[in-house]
Amino acid sequence: MTFDTRDLDFEYRGRKTRIPAVPGWYCPQCGEAYLEDGGRYAKAMTAFVQEIRTDEATELKTIRKNRG
Ligand SMILES: [Zn+2]
Repeated sequence: MTFDTRDLDFEYRGRKTRIPAVPGWYCPQCGEAYLEDGGRYAKAMTAFVQEIRTDEATELKTIRKNRG
């Protein structure tokens, strides 16, 4: 494992986000990572998922309204 700071991509329902400068131990062989970012990556991931769900809920409401 190598200690490094990397920008990590996260994808959810076809939408992508990038969490910049995530410190952690990264394995050069298999790409496995043990993050030491105090949970920042997990928080960013959760916030992104939440945002998409809120968007989808809003879109659904709009569709329902338009249908009357
Ligand atoms: Zn490995």
